[in-house]
Parts: sequence; C-alpha cells; structure tokens
Amino acid sequence: MTQDDGTPQSGGPRAAEPLVSNGKFRETEVLIVGGGMVGLTLGIALASAGLRSTIVDRADPARLTTAPHDGRSSAIARGSQQALAALGIWHRMADGAQPIMDIRVSDGQVGRNAAPFFLHYAQDDLDAGTAGPLGYIVENRVTREALYARAAQLRDLTLLAPAAIAALDRNPGAVEAELDDGTRLKAQVVVAAEGRMSKLRQAAGIKITTWDYPQCGIVATIHHDRPHNGVAYEHFLPAGPFAMLPMTDTADGQHRSSLVWTERRDLVPAMMKLSDKDFTTELTRRFGTSLGTLREVGGRWSYPLSLLHAERIVDRRLALVGDAAHGIHPISGQGLNLGLRDVAALAETLVDARRLGLDLGGGEVLAGYARWRRFDNMALIAVTDGLNRLFSNDVAPLRMVRDLGLAAVNQMPPLKRFFMRHAMGLVGDLPRLVKGEAL
Ligand SMILES: Cc1cc2nc3c(=O)[nH]c(=O)nc-3n(C[C@H](O)[C@H](O)[C@H](O)COP(=O)(O)OP(=O)(O)OC[C@H]3O[C@@H](n4cnc5c(N)ncnc54)[C@H](O)[C@@H]3O)c2cc1C
Repeated sequence: MTQDDGTPQSGGPRAAEPLVSNGKFRETEVLIVGGGMVGLTLGIALASAGLRSTIVDRADPARLTTAPHDGRSSAIARGSQQALAALGIWHRMADGAQPIMDIRVSDGQVGRNAAPFFLHYAQDDLDAGTAGPLGYIVENRVTREALYARAAQLRDLTLLAPAAIAALDRNPGAVEAELDDGTRLKAQVVVAAEGRMSKLRQAAGIKITTWDYPQCGIVATIHHDRPHNGVAYEHFLPAGPFAMLPMTDTADGQHRSSLVWTERRDLVPAMMKLSDKDFTTELTRRFGTSLGTLREVGGRWSYPLSLLHAERIVDRRLALVGDAAHGIHPISGQGLNLGLRDVAALAETLVDARRLGLDLGGGEVLAGYARWRRFDNMALIAVTDGLNRLFSNDVAPLRMVRDLGLAAVNQMPPLKRFFMRHAMGLVGDLPRLVKGEAL
C-alpha cells in the first residue's frame, strides 16, 4: 500500500490521514469501491500481481478492526484458506484460526425432540487428496487485521479511507471518479465491493431479486467449560439453524465458540434485551450441556437476514463482487467464501487480460468473468435458500423427508464426500488462487 507519494507504508491498518489533497489526480488501473473483506482481498490479489489498484472505503479502518463493530466470526472454507495463503495473508491470521475437524448436523433441539437422524462430517471421511481440516473459524476482526497488514506491504495498492465517491462516470474509454474531497481518479475498470446496498450497482440500473427472511441471526461469543475439539454443531430448529462454531481458546485458556442463532424476527428485540443469565438459560435449553456450562461474553449482535441476487454482475467497465453481487442466508456459512471465489476469478481474469495487453474494462474480458461466476453464484443462492425453507419449520411430513435425506447422505460415503468438497469450496472450475496457486 502506498502513501500518496508512492512510498511503501509499513505497519498495520492506516486510516487515511489526509492522504490526498483537493484537486489531486490519481491514475490507477483498477478502482475498487468498498474495502470490506472482499474488496481488500481483491486489491491485494491484483497488486500482488503488479496491477495498480486503488480501494475507496467510506469507513475508517481503525473502527472496522474493533470488536464492538462486528462480533462475527466466519467459517473460512478450505478453498478460501488456500487463496488467502497464496496471497500472503493466511499466516497473519493462522494463530486466530480454529480448524474444523468435524461437523455435526442434527434436526431438532438437543436432548428434547432431536431426530434420530444425524449427519456427521468428519475430516477422516475425506479422500487422501483433500485430507486436513474441513475449514476454519476466524473472527472477522482478525481477518481484517491480516488484510490491512498485507495491504500495507504492497506498493501497487492504495487505500483511501475514510473517503467517499462524489461522482463517477463510466465512459467508453475509461472510468473517471471524483471523491468528496475533490481528488480525481481515472481507471480502466471499477469494481463494486460495497456490500448489499451497492450504489454502483444501483447507478448501473442492474436489477436485483431480493427478499427478507422472517429471521434474524443473533451472534455472540460463548465461553464453555469443556473443549470443543474442533467440532462445529448445527441444529435445525423450527425458527431456523442454530450453530455453535469452534473458536481458538483465549490466551488464558478459555474455551470459546461462536454462536449464530437464527430466530424469528419478531422475537429478536426481546432476545436482545434478555439479561446475560436469561440469555444463557435460553441458549442452554436449545444447545444442551455437551460443552459444559455456557457463558455469554463480550456482547450480542443481531443481523436481519435477506437474500439478494443481482441479475448481472458486469456492466460497462463495471464488475460486482461479494455481497454487492449476491447476499445469501448464513445457514451454511458461505457468503464470504462465495465473495472470495468472485475475487479469485476476477483477479485471474484481469491479470490474464493485462498479460495479453487487453483493456481491463473491455466487454469481452468482463463477460468472461460473469460467465465463470454464474453457476457457482446461482447454485449457492438456490441451495442456501432451499435448505432454509426445508429446515426452518416443524411440519411433520417435511421433517420426515429431510431426516431421511440426512440419514441417506450419512450412509453414502461418495455423496457425503461430494457435499464436503462442495462446502470446502473445492468443486467446479476453480480459479488458480483457490487451488493455492499464484496468479
Ligand atoms: C450472521 C452472519 C453470519 C455470517 N457467517 C458467515 C460465515 O461463517 N462464512 C461466510 O463465508 N460468510 C458469512 N457471512 C456472510 C459474510 O459476512 C458476507 O458475505 C461478507 O462479509 C461480505 O463481504 P463484502 O466485503 O462483500 O461486503 P461488506 O462486508 O458489506 O463490506 C462492504 C464495504 O464497503 C464499504 N462501503 C459501503 N458502501 C460504500 C460506498 N458507497 N462507498 C465506499 N465504501 C462503501 C463498507 O464500509 C464496507 O467496508 C455471514 C453473514 C451474517 C449476517
């Protein structure tokens, strides 16, 4: 990452001190609007391959790495981990990454109406080629810190934050933008990585299909007496999936898990107001005591859940990545992973185009990216939505069908392995980064 004068910075996240001054002009190859986990990874991928890239984010990086901003942890699939490793990011977050050794899926409340059918994914089920953890759980805060630290090393990457786009024109020859402090930018292509409410997507007139789920995700960190041994639990309760995801122990040896509790939207305000003691009682009623006594620590967050699908992910000199292109239910912890696969595909497309001397914002180049991502994006949107509909209810015939389905998958090793490889992000036409290769 460079200061305005091109001097490489060292050190961690850097809020934009007055990096730029009024009337300044900056030429870049790729302009990325939105420096969340997806936009930052894209900037790092492109700049590592020598493409001059500029990220503009309206938020202050110092705020995004503090726990009160985002209490979430994310399941990082194996394919995403391989991409982060290939980009020199993973080793900065590995100490905070808990390997998932085992996933236990059950239908119903533990100890009460739990179905006899149970789906059990263990790393031993994998074939030799994919042996190892099924994925990792990492606090978003830890991932962001690793991304800022890696970004700071890259001469070809500039982060302007906090900063906002005041005007942007995608004309046939180039993208021209002006920031609210008067800085002018020129690029060959602009990438929308601004999350679900993407202004660039709206300005391009790209239609979206979207609906709200009648659910919110309640997120908290839970301490427990017994070690989790790397097991991730997902119980399908009538209100929605209820997950306890294993986290690394704290420095003083406390065992922790990340709770993602999907609950009916109308009940969530009351749940958020419960005292710690009452919340823990409700939690224990649903999860049981297999991890010993549970204690909630460090706050509680709630996220309204919705689905979003952009009808196109490219337009003139514009590409969408991450939640700007698709927002999915967190039922299988895949939203960020999907975004990172967008990043890997777009970075490879742009780097290859540059090697061939092509215009990075050219229609054919961007169409190639859109074709590449179409199937994966559509499939995950459909699968996560379908799973949520199938499991978030207590209708007896549906329950029987899904429980038989779980049991059948559990009994069929090849099918089970296929689902596991899918969840690990290792199926399909994989970009080089996802295979752990350099761009
Ligand atoms: C409860 C919950 C649990 C989840 N768990 C998982 C999980 O386990 N695994 C997983 O893979 N995914 C998970 N997800 C999904 C995942 O969090 C998202 O898919 C991911 O964070 C999207 O990243 P992003 O960078 O595309 O968007 P965002 O995180 O929304 O980042 C957008 C960035 O753009 C900036 N921005 C916005 N507008 C502008 C603008 N106009 N100008 C400049 N900057 C702008 C913002 O400041 C922000 O930094 C979960 C989601 C939820 C709600």
